[in-house]
Amino acid sequence: MRNYGLYDFRVATSGTARDINRRIVLNLIRKHQPVSRADLSRFSGMQRSTVSAITEQLISERWVAEGAVSDLPRGRKPTFLHLNSQRVGIFGINVRPFATNLALANMDGRFLVQEILPTPPVAGEFVEQVSQRIHDLIKLNPELAYEGIGVSLPGRVDLSSQRFIFAPNLGWELEDLKQQMETATGLPVELENEANACALSEFWFGRHGDGVRNLIAVAVSEGIGVGMVLNGQLVRGPSGLAGEFGHVSIVEGGPKCACGNRGCWEVYASNSAAVRSYNENTSTPIRSRTKASRQAAALDDFDELMKLAQEGNSRAGAAIDQMARHLGVGLAMLVTGLAPELIVVVGEVTHLWDRVGRIINDVIQRRSFTHTTTRVIADGPAPLPRLRGIIALVLQKRFGTPTMA
Ligand SMILES: [Zn+2]
Repeated sequence: MRNYGLYDFRVATSGTARDINRRIVLNLIRKHQPVSRADLSRFSGMQRSTVSAITEQLISERWVAEGAVSDLPRGRKPTFLHLNSQRVGIFGINVRPFATNLALANMDGRFLVQEILPTPPVAGEFVEQVSQRIHDLIKLNPELAYEGIGVSLPGRVDLSSQRFIFAPNLGWELEDLKQQMETATGLPVELENEANACALSEFWFGRHGDGVRNLIAVAVSEGIGVGMVLNGQLVRGPSGLAGEFGHVSIVEGGPKCACGNRGCWEVYASNSAAVRSYNENTSTPIRSRTKASRQAAALDDFDELMKLAQEGNSRAGAAIDQMARHLGVGLAMLVTGLAPELIVVVGEVTHLWDRVGRIINDVIQRRSFTHTTTRVIADGPAPLPRLRGIIALVLQKRFGTPTMA
């Protein structure tokens, strides 16, 4: 007989308890701000004195600030507390095959700076260019305390070594990016898969995810990435590879995929799949005007395809509809297999959500008997969800409660 979990534990010390209580108070302030100490005590079930001690410490560290005084008619007037969101600066970087978004954000996910840089073909050049820009931005904003850098990647990162282990659409050598960036910037760096970043974004800042503990983000672009928050925890699997549904083969012997497999879901339902399908069925294929890179061309082509579909080109419309049906097939698998409360679709294709969402929901309805418990929604185009998510990842180090590992 096996005793699960018996050998993998950490004993709680009084320090652990203090740390957990501190995180709970920080999270409650984040959720309910502006909020009084009395309410924090009521929400958390902690003694007033414990709450006061924790909030004093948070105020002295400038995580929390005191704001307005309540206008209650009688009695002692409590002072409201709120997060000192201006204190903290976090860099969010969203790497995509053709372009990199760089953002500087506050604690509440508000962007102070947002820029686009071309993604260099080699990781070393990327580190050099991005850290130079980060040094410049730190000099321009000396009043901020910098918590760290989050990097969202179109690939998977090994949890223990923090090395890239899988990035078929990016084409970089699989290097120790975290170490290189930390050395170049002097700040802690967190790497995360882009779909996981989207899932965190919805879990942390999302409008639809309030109270939701099981949600899946499906990032549709050159490929398809899936990020899962199940039972309030980001699911990475022992190696960090969990969620590669985009590379599950749905047609045996189908077209070859960048991963080496054949007939993967993303070969049928990604942006590039829709462009390929259109080009195969027309005498006037879309030929990129962008010569910068294969990936930049792919994005440009998909924009062109969506434009044609919107203008009423029937072949372009058919290619988009086919992509939507294939998206539905994979989503039905997720709905039936994992039955989350929410699935968030992220990517350019959400521009046509009126058309695409209808088809997707239709396929799910026909294929999954558990569809009624899952909402499928579109969350605007990238890069915003990825940037917000990667900022949430850095914040989570500070705010994370035991259920948000
Ligand atoms: Zn594949």
